[in-house]
Amino acid sequence: HKRIVVIGAGIVGCSIAYYLSKMGQRNITVIEQGPLFETGGSTSHAPGLVFQLSFSKVLTTLASQTVETFKELSTDEQRSFYPVGSLEVARTPERLEDLKRKAGVASSWGIEALLLSPQECAEKNSLICPDRICGGLYVPSDGIAKPLHAVDKMTRFSKECGVEFYGHTEVTNIEVTNGQVKAVYTSAGKFEADVIVCCAGFWGPRIGEMVGVTIPLQPMAHQYVFTNDLLELNGETEEVATPLIRDQDNAIYFRQVDKGLGIGSYQHEPFPIELSDITKYGETKEMPSVKPFTPKDFEKPWEDALELIPALKQPGIKKGMNGIFSFTPDGMPLLGESQAVGGFWVAEAIWVTHSAGVARQMAEWLMNGAPTVDLELCDINRFDTYACSPVYYKQRSIEEYEEVYSIHHPFMQRKVSRNMRVSPFYMRQQELKAYFNEKAGWEQPQWYEANYPLISTYEKKMVIRKGWSAEYWSPIIEAEQLHTRQYAAIYDTTAAKKRLEIKGEGALQFLQKLTTGNIDITVGQSIRTCMLHERGGIKDQIMVIRKNISTFLIVCTGAVEASWIQKHVPQNGQVVFQDVTSGTCSIALIGPKATGVMKSVVQCSELSSTWIEGQAKTLFIEKSSVLALRDSYGGMESWELITTSDQGLNLWDVLIEQGQPYQLIAAGDRALENLRIESFSLKSGKDFWSEHHPYEVNLHEMVDLTKPVFIGKEALLDRQRKDSETVLATLILDDPSAIVMGYEPVFYGETALGFVTSAGYSYSLGKGIVHTLLSQAVHEEMVLEVEYFGQRYKATMMTHSPAVV
Ligand code: FAD
Repeated sequence: HKRIVVIGAGIVGCSIAYYLSKMGQRNITVIEQGPLFETGGSTSHAPGLVFQLSFSKVLTTLASQTVETFKELSTDEQRSFYPVGSLEVARTPERLEDLKRKAGVASSWGIEALLLSPQECAEKNSLICPDRICGGLYVPSDGIAKPLHAVDKMTRFSKECGVEFYGHTEVTNIEVTNGQVKAVYTSAGKFEADVIVCCAGFWGPRIGEMVGVTIPLQPMAHQYVFTNDLLELNGETEEVATPLIRDQDNAIYFRQVDKGLGIGSYQHEPFPIELSDITKYGETKEMPSVKPFTPKDFEKPWEDALELIPALKQPGIKKGMNGIFSFTPDGMPLLGESQAVGGFWVAEAIWVTHSAGVARQMAEWLMNGAPTVDLELCDINRFDTYACSPVYYKQRSIEEYEEVYSIHHPFMQRKVSRNMRVSPFYMRQQELKAYFNEKAGWEQPQWYEANYPLISTYEKKMVIRKGWSAEYWSPIIEAEQLHTRQYAAIYDTTAAKKRLEIKGEGALQFLQKLTTGNIDITVGQSIRTCMLHERGGIKDQIMVIRKNISTFLIVCTGAVEASWIQKHVPQNGQVVFQDVTSGTCSIALIGPKATGVMKSVVQCSELSSTWIEGQAKTLFIEKSSVLALRDSYGGMESWELITTSDQGLNLWDVLIEQGQPYQLIAAGDRALENLRIESFSLKSGKDFWSEHHPYEVNLHEMVDLTKPVFIGKEALLDRQRKDSETVLATLILDDPSAIVMGYEPVFYGETALGFVTSAGYSYSLGKGIVHTLLSQAVHEEMVLEVEYFGQRYKATMMTHSPAVV
């Protein structure tokens, strides 16, 4: 057994020790600086509201698993969970619409949720004044968690399995040798360790500093008050019997606490807490996770609370606090083993709501090599270097706090910490009045206002968008898409993927082990293949280009996948890994005239007829040395052109200039995405992820079972033998004016079969097109329906790719 040291005995640390013990792991030590188990961390005073449902599938799953665990641990004598249900009320018509959308994802993720009228809300929780609301969403399985009760049950079990808990013991340093953790130094001596799991809550960044790993979280104070007893709750005998209430329009939430209420508010100005201002247990009278209450900041939330719950007028506030917990730049937890230091695992920025679910997944990850739930969006390695700057993650985390209860549009812009990374084409894109969005820190053009005149050319074919789908949208997107289909466009794909160079005498052997395809291709060829994790799920779909006998360029999805590849690089000196993303840029030249443009910028001899699809050559495009790959995109001729960042501007200018006779334009990412969807092309991380294996999502051709070994092969064969739980289907919406956005549920009669992963519009069919993941096979005769904002739209399965116009 590996020696595992868990730092922190809050809900997260204790849940991880519990799940590891349940899975048979021994040799676990938990070290806590405060007393056991009311440690003074965030868990000690967490009000424990559990709203499971969110637009994020992974967070919803983690929350549901937490509820499951807390229910299992709950007894009549000691309740770990009160399943009293929750009500999210809408104070505005916009919020009510958003709740309809949320009811849709509830069906997508398999959670029961009911839209209620104002009166029905008041029937569920009689404290609510129905005149103040437009309606609400009721989730019967939500409730109140009692994390300290759960901790008590879990730690009793863990202790029986031999887990040792040390209270009043502070971790002061960590020993790392050759990039691998070795031991933890504490106020009570040294503990040898093969694996450290950092569950130190908002102290996490300090522990990270001990091993040189950035843990990009920002501690923030958040207001929570207790009221005096309400007459209306006089007869209550349970600590909590009434449904929780969330009033997101006013950024407040409510729970019953015996005969009074607990009220939390996100309304105030954010209070970021500096690491230097965080105390240790015993240093101050209050717990380290509590800052003094600032009553002035609660005046407005209190007024709003009185409006929704008039019964609050009489009792008034008993006491309040500004309690500290963690925020991250994207609102997601930080999980997994750090790429930089072997054996240093992190489970940070986790709400009580997701705690036990996270613990279960972390234990699986540690013991089996991969979790069953895809945790890519929570992976600690998802940030590139830029995002590890404290300025960046502080600003973004504050923005997260401010927006925590806002209505989030999928294409909503981030306001702060922009222009972190720009491609060499940025200057030209600004001249073309690009509308930028951020992707992995890069400013990525979504469309170009300079293409506005194209609208009149394509207007007749375009669909009229209204409401939600017309927000953060421009008809220019459609014009760019249609223009690409007719002529050609260049797309800046610098931000779309990561580019890695793998070289050395062991490079081929390494890539053969890493991927499911045969990488022993001829020099200049490329191959699309999969990487599987240890349990046979798809870690990523990647492209490999063999540049010379022992040098390969890998194009993978993002930082998580890149760090996964790096982690597997053998340490025998025979393989060199280099992330060349920031030093390179890439352009996709797409459309029926793309090869015409290429002919005018490269020597004709280079463009001989023997240059087949999938082949790459290094050549000059005027002054720029470019790796050019002949490809196809959306059923059209396309070229992927990669060069170094210093030469990118040259390349762009030459293409634009020489492309004039071909009506070449620069077009944005939104058109590119729609071209992908309308041509039935799937995207790793969007249409399938590590929970799926290649046979489930029609990637059979990317697996070469004749290869003796590759990571995940045994598990894949095993999974292939079992019945698949998922099918991927492409549907067409019957109503030509119907447009959906993604994550909507797909119904067959009253049964939700699954949900939409990617949504676009096919101009050849004149209809909306969606990729879906379903729990059972469907066929063309079945009448399926996609639900969008509470409305059902008929949909038909497509068996073949539509002919593209
Ligand atoms: P903690 O409970 O803080 O545990 C971390 C532990 O690590 C601490 O005990 C600390 O002492 C220990 N530690 C740190 N450094 C060291 C060291 N060097 N050596 C040894 N030990 C160390 N979540 C919800 O889901 N629902 C809610 O309704 C909710 N409401 C909240 C309201 C308020 C006012 C606050 C403050 C938080 C709320 N949260 C809520 C968030 C939730 O409480 C936290 O996210 C959660 O408790 C974090 O658990 P944890 O185990 O990660 O951290």
